[in-house]
Amino acid sequence: MATAAVLAKHFQKVTIFEKDRNLGKAEIRKSVPQATQIHALMLGGLRTLESLLPGFIAELIADGAALLPMAKLQLWFKTLWKVTPPMNFYPEDMSYVCSSRPFLESHIFGKVSKLSNVTVVTGVTVTGLLSDKARPDYVTGVVVRDNETQEERREVADFIADCSGRPSKVDQYFEQIGFGPIPTEECDGGIGYTTAEITLPNKEVTPGYEAVLILPRFDQTRAFGVFPMEKGQLQYMFGSYGRDYPPVTDRVALEEWVKGLGQSEVALKLLKEAKFVTDFVSYHPPASRWRHFEEMKRFPEHFVCLADTVCAFNPLYAQGMTHALLHADILNRVLTEQKQERFTEGWWGVSKDFQKRAAKFTQGCWDLGTRVDYVRPTTVTSTPLSVRNSFGLRLSALMGDELVKMLLETNEGHHDFALVQHCLVSPEKVLLKPTVLFPLIVRVIKALREGKLPPKI
Ligand SMILES: Cc1cc2nc3c(=O)[nH]c(=O)nc-3n(C[C@H](O)[C@H](O)[C@H](O)COP(=O)(O)OP(=O)(O)OC[C@H]3O[C@@H](n4cnc5c(N)ncnc54)[C@H](O)[C@@H]3O)c2cc1C
Repeated sequence: MATAAVLAKHFQKVTIFEKDRNLGKAEIRKSVPQATQIHALMLGGLRTLESLLPGFIAELIADGAALLPMAKLQLWFKTLWKVTPPMNFYPEDMSYVCSSRPFLESHIFGKVSKLSNVTVVTGVTVTGLLSDKARPDYVTGVVVRDNETQEERREVADFIADCSGRPSKVDQYFEQIGFGPIPTEECDGGIGYTTAEITLPNKEVTPGYEAVLILPRFDQTRAFGVFPMEKGQLQYMFGSYGRDYPPVTDRVALEEWVKGLGQSEVALKLLKEAKFVTDFVSYHPPASRWRHFEEMKRFPEHFVCLADTVCAFNPLYAQGMTHALLHADILNRVLTEQKQERFTEGWWGVSKDFQKRAAKFTQGCWDLGTRVDYVRPTTVTSTPLSVRNSFGLRLSALMGDELVKMLLETNEGHHDFALVQHCLVSPEKVLLKPTVLFPLIVRVIKALREGKLPPKI
């Protein structure tokens, strides 16, 4: 949807082809199974949406969105370090949006579908890409199948964006038109999400806080959170690694499972206090997967891939939608620059330029999610064990841990941590600050001497 809003700035007419029919209704869609789970939208994503769709934030709030101020999230990072930002430290506009996915999606759809040059065609499945023998380096359109009649038709376009998410069949389409293979990396942490809507006796989930998140260390498998949602609802969430899913139908077994969490007393207390409004719903996302389009020697002109089609992450870090929105923002910049600087060449070169710049941004998000997942014994990856056991990879996991721990010791560090977490600045920008890099090196050397390097698997 956000990509369509970007394309609408640069092209006369934009058509969205969408498999599902019930877009715009605040209900779970068949093609987006992750929509059963709470979605938090980081500031980088929220600000991009506002710039593309002015008035978006005000509408969301007017309709009852939960805005969670940064200082109101009690975060236990790797279950050890309580991330307690100094009171009133963050400006008021540094807030997450926490909501059900259908609530957020229906608001974005409402705004995009009102753009005068955007048409949304629902109930159709894209089944292939078109290419032209006279122009073998280009994608010239898509093949679209009507879900009811099963009739297929060819739709020609000047520029095509694949935003079909995790299940994108771009590998297969590329093979059919003579491109590929696409170098691909996979990291399967055996992640599970299990949630239920609850109410609590107080607005504060724990004293002083409106949300709690406990993330596990590399040698632990259980995560836990309680987050606000739209219209005053709350969602209770268990996350699991290594397929260590919670036994939600048996209360006694569930309490035992919760005792295996780091900081389990917080979760147990909330489990006892909560009034469950819905049953638990589970979703076990497939492996994190990064398609490295930027490494392909030949990539088709007039075609781009964005968001989960490029890279789908471990959802526990809540980056996916912000990553998708910032890809849309990068595309906007690439198209604008091309128009201003090189338009004699038309859109030639845009595709490769975009995939390279998008991948550079994706790298930071991928590192955040996988650095620790790679050193977990339960994780299955396409990366050989010899690489995962290498000193370099284990050192980078240790550095990541020490960096977070160090940042959260000072006010300036808190601010830097928040800027990276919300995709407002790149991780390198913070890492390369002399006030960060040199003390970090000293800390990492000390941690190595203390034997804190994650062990080999
Ligand atoms: C359990 C879980 C929790 C998550 N929580 C968060 C969170 O808190 N915060 C966050 O930012 N992200 C979260 N994410 C990630 C987020 O859901 C995705 O990163 C994001 O939705 C990706 O956007 P997308 O546009 O690439 O794909 P999608 O949102 O999946 O959209 C793809 C669209 O393409 C359509 N489509 C697919 N194939 C075709 C086809 N062949 N023809 C026509 N239409 C097609 C689908 O119907 C769908 O509408 C979570 C993910 C999971 C699994």
